[in-house]
Amino acid sequence: MSQTVLAAVMAAPLVPVELRELPLPELPVGGALLRTGLSEVCGTDVHLWHGRLSGVPYPIIPGHVSTGTLGAVRGALADVEGRPLREGDRVAFFDVHRTCGRCLACTVHRTPTRCPHRRVYGITDSVADGLFGGWAQQIYLEPGVTIAKLPDAVTFEAYIGGGCGLLTAVHIIDRARIVMGDTVVVQGAGAVGLSAAALARRAGAGQVILIGGPHDRLALARDMGADHVIPLDTTTPGDRLERVLALTGRLGADVVIEAAGSALAFEEGLLFARNGGAYVIAGHYTNVGDSRINAHEHINRKHLDIRGCWGSEVGHFLRAIRLLDRYAGEVPWARIGARTYALSQINEALADAEAFRIPKALVDPWR
Ligand SMILES: [Zn+2]
Ligand SMILES: [Zn+2]
Repeated sequence: MSQTVLAAVMAAPLVPVELRELPLPELPVGGALLRTGLSEVCGTDVHLWHGRLSGVPYPIIPGHVSTGTLGAVRGALADVEGRPLREGDRVAFFDVHRTCGRCLACTVHRTPTRCPHRRVYGITDSVADGLFGGWAQQIYLEPGVTIAKLPDAVTFEAYIGGGCGLLTAVHIIDRARIVMGDTVVVQGAGAVGLSAAALARRAGAGQVILIGGPHDRLALARDMGADHVIPLDTTTPGDRLERVLALTGRLGADVVIEAAGSALAFEEGLLFARNGGAYVIAGHYTNVGDSRINAHEHINRKHLDIRGCWGSEVGHFLRAIRLLDRYAGEVPWARIGARTYALSQINEALADAEAFRIPKALVDPWR
């Protein structure tokens, strides 16, 4: 095996991503190397490239969610359920590789996704710290990283097609507390919205309405589990509200899920929810500006329950894999990953992701 690997490095915001040869690390006991099968370019990477996330230690190797085959393993390694792991196993790992377990967020508030010491592959580690991103032929799995075996039915394409959006969607469903028979509106047809629609259906929603675009994604949304799709580009806000009211006996939806990341979507989503309904905000990963709302009309008089949904936890990762296994023949997660790019094509992949030409770009570093 060669002692260096090829990686795509984001040296700084707004500078083209460049290829570098990087050394393989000396493995500590409990550490491992993952031969990258697939990684992804997601909205987070577009934000990283624009420098929209604070405290990122550029240069970095992006690619926070990845999957592959275990290579060198030093010492005994087990998956999250305690089963031994061996070289050659097909695995995925949870991208949050450290939370402190001691701070208020971790212990008292039980919100580990808000731990100030949280470290995430592809985002919070510099290239100088090692192979901590999926845009590389090998990924360093440091001791303590949560690893899960991929079931035979779960292909690399399906795992990464779901990717970070699926983990977020599992968290969204927790936060949404859907009751069987509920009408759920999903705003957004990106990777998060598509998986949220798929899981809302499996969580017992009586009716799933997805609003978004572009047009070809709406066909995919139907195949994922949406009963009704409303195109964003050929309707007015008034048209969309009328459509939701018409589909809900003029009551509004029991649950609205925001996966659009737009200030206007939030204003509109408040109108879709019924009195006493719930609204889960998941798409506002960066600051997209202020929304105009009227607290009396849109929240208090409606007795509306509004919940944020930040990041994901190990449980979401593990349950995402179980869901990929359970619904492997039914939900076309692999189709979210519309196109696979080589490391040398990463700049093109970023441009395609930013322009919404594809819901998710897959990265195969061995191409
Ligand atoms: Zn903590
Ligand atoms: Zn992502």
